[in-house]
Amino acid sequence: MATLTSPLPSTLTLEQETNPWEAQAARFDYAAKKLNLDKGIWKVLRYPAREIIVHIPVGMDDGSIEVFTGYRVQHSVARGPAKGGIRYSPDVSLDEVRALASWMTWKCAVVNIPFGGAKGGVICDPKKMSQGELERMTRRYTAELIEFLGPEKDVPAPDMGTDEQTMAWIMDTYSMHMRQTVTAVVTGKPVNIGGSRGRREATGRGISVVCDQALRYLGMPVEGCRVIVQGFGNVGSNAAKLLYEKGYTVIGIAEYDGGLYNAKGIDIAALTEHRRTAGTINGFAGAEVADKHELLTRSCEILIPAATENVITSLNAADLKCRILCEGANGPTTIVADDILAEKGVFVIPDILANAGGVTTSYFEWVQDRMGYFWTEAEVNQRLDSIMIQSFIDVIRYSESHGVNNRIAAYMLAIDRVAYTTKQRGIYA
Ligand code: GLU
Repeated sequence: MATLTSPLPSTLTLEQETNPWEAQAARFDYAAKKLNLDKGIWKVLRYPAREIIVHIPVGMDDGSIEVFTGYRVQHSVARGPAKGGIRYSPDVSLDEVRALASWMTWKCAVVNIPFGGAKGGVICDPKKMSQGELERMTRRYTAELIEFLGPEKDVPAPDMGTDEQTMAWIMDTYSMHMRQTVTAVVTGKPVNIGGSRGRREATGRGISVVCDQALRYLGMPVEGCRVIVQGFGNVGSNAAKLLYEKGYTVIGIAEYDGGLYNAKGIDIAALTEHRRTAGTINGFAGAEVADKHELLTRSCEILIPAATENVITSLNAADLKCRILCEGANGPTTIVADDILAEKGVFVIPDILANAGGVTTSYFEWVQDRMGYFWTEAEVNQRLDSIMIQSFIDVIRYSESHGVNNRIAAYMLAIDRVAYTTKQRGIYA
């Protein structure tokens, strides 16, 4: 099978290799070519439909005024309202938000839910801001975007640096402007104000489901299946917890401030309790200290990068010793690393499939808000499981029938679905 980037790798600088927009575009172009995508539709889908930049003045606690730059990129609304999280991080850039918005379009299409794709981001360091400052920034960001958001227009959700509280502020700000409570304008809200049961764990749960499917497909047992997880935030901690409960052996956890390793398996319930009281995974008695970078290259059956982009690159891909790479984060693997992993025979469960459990349960939340009728956690989980299983099967089917790797298969499946709808709706002029 032809590799994705060759002969590019030797000519790409690390900066080019780690540009998320280029990474998205390279996979899109490759998959579109394989699909023989119409040239015009290719132009429509390659670039975002709308990009909004806002400069957000915020009164800080010390009396000064700070101005933060924020983005909202709506990549596609062909299959339904734009959908995607909002990220608060010092590293946010327009190129990153663009890539993440496109990935949301492909992700929603892979799991076949009626949404387009969007993403938001604000350049800030939420760890250094007070709750009051975060609330004022969130409300003003929402107000600046007011005409572009709405249950039928664009529905934000949490991402890195944002949480249920952030979503509650967005919902309240939007509702104040509309003069009525509009819960369906965001997802990932607290359960008592229109959130869905199971949403908090949903991304981790989806990851555990596709891991189960991958083991079945490859004929590997759960017993003795060693897992290393990078990131112990919402996605990583819930994935580790659910896999641990299913009988997987989680041998390593890498966090931004340290790493843990235990060849016999880490008690994730005990670690979660330790982190709750200590505020960090460091100092946990049930594992030895390990280097957070080196952990990614230790021997395991499943490696789950669940932190941020570009952690598997030309610098470390050759050193990976996992059988399965399950991408909890968006864009953790660069295009150059893709080729290296393919040569090594690593089974990749690509981000737009692996972490789609979050947006799938966001869809359930939006549905429940609009019905005003709320499901039990068991109902939510059962629906999520069946969508994740079906999506895994669909991606494998594309991979086998087109002779491409899983990532390209997922892109092809998604592009096929979005292109079909785009053609059917036609171009408005
Ligand atoms: N931020 C999450 C993602 O990247 C969730 C998006 C959503 O629920 O809309 O998939």
